[in-house]
Amino acid sequence: VDHCQECDYTYDLSTARAAAQAIRGQVADIATVLRGPGELGKRLVPEVWAPVEYACHVRDVLLVQRERALSALRNDKPACPPMGRDERVEHDGYATQVPEDVARQITDAAQMFTNVLDRLGDSDWSRSLVYNYPEPTERSLEWLAVHTLHEVQHHLRDIRGQLA
Ligand SMILES: [Zn+2]
Repeated sequence: VDHCQECDYTYDLSTARAAAQAIRGQVADIATVLRGPGELGKRLVPEVWAPVEYACHVRDVLLVQRERALSALRNDKPACPPMGRDERVEHDGYATQVPEDVARQITDAAQMFTNVLDRLGDSDWSRSLVYNYPEPTERSLEWLAVHTLHEVQHHLRDIRGQLA
């Protein structure tokens, strides 16, 4: 069983069909944090992202996962080129983005990704793609859904940790 000790998330493919709703709920929580008080663009320690940087990362994950899911629907076992997790922080200037803008964008990104999930039929959930991380592995859209929920949950915890 795949389990994340840090945020206590267990990968369970039988929960894939409930992932969309959970993603929308947790992204709403991130948007609430972004609209609240705190030094959202400031890192507490140099090597740990600021809250707005985590939120930008989650937004981009949702947009990338949407494209991967759509690709898996029209192609057989498509590859997933790396999203450039760390490069984007600088290339897209994550730390300088306006929290209110990111709150709006992450909400839309969640709606856009989960709309694709909501439209999957029974046979679509087993369509697969080749995921790169941590090593090239064939994964189903069920896995993509639960993995993306884990990303959201894990980083919501990171964001709250930076503000605690
Ligand atoms: Zn986790």
